[in-house]
Amino acid sequence: MAGTTVKTEAIVLRSIRYGEADRILHLYSATRGRLNAIAKGARKPKSRFGGRLEPFFRLDLVLHEGRSELLTVTSATTVDGYPRLRSSGAALTAGARACDAVLRLLDSAEANPPAYNLLCRYLSLLDDPDPVVAAGGAELRTALAFRLKLALVAGFVPELAACARCGEDGHLVGFSGAAGGVVCAGCESDAFPLGEEGHAFMVAALAQPLSEAPEAEPLALRQVERAVGETLEHHAHVQLRAAA
Ligand SMILES: [Zn+2]
Repeated sequence: MAGTTVKTEAIVLRSIRYGEADRILHLYSATRGRLNAIAKGARKPKSRFGGRLEPFFRLDLVLHEGRSELLTVTSATTVDGYPRLRSSGAALTAGARACDAVLRLLDSAEANPPAYNLLCRYLSLLDDPDPVVAAGGAELRTALAFRLKLALVAGFVPELAACARCGEDGHLVGFSGAAGGVVCAGCESDAFPLGEEGHAFMVAALAQPLSEAPEAEPLALRQVERAVGETLEHHAHVQLRAAA
């Protein structure tokens, strides 16, 4: 068979039934970024792939790359199936939104190890053996911390230290998606109000591990979601689904 063999770790973002017995996998891989692959015969009862070609599975894959854009899965072994994540409705929803955000924002077939590691860390947090830690992972504050970190590794982190229009570092009262960050009172014409708590949340969430996403009031979290959403709309031309 002509073509090359590709070995990589990957997370299954989406798994689609295809034809009589196949699956199409949308993958985020450690070494090739976004990949799509077909797993032939994956839905046959005695398929060698078993049940592991489902969303959130972290797999060690061997793929065949021919002339098609779609690679063919030759073998798949489980690195982590995140079984506890699968038994919690809140964790499943949070994981699905994270995978959806990765699909929308990271469409390049280039390795982005920080992005891959971030997604793995979030799924591990949702799968944490301590139920209190796992429940914290499924909260809105952690989903938003993930989005901020995802924006960072995708190259679209908002400017938070000074006015994104004029560089003024005081009186930062709003956020402008078009400007891509916080703005001062003199530059707020196309901005929405961003309170101190929302601003502080973004700074802290970017600086701390996902498992230590800061607490904040619902109003502040709504402002953060809007700030990240509008930044990605303006600069990455991507619309994310609601975070919760
Ligand atoms: Zn300004």
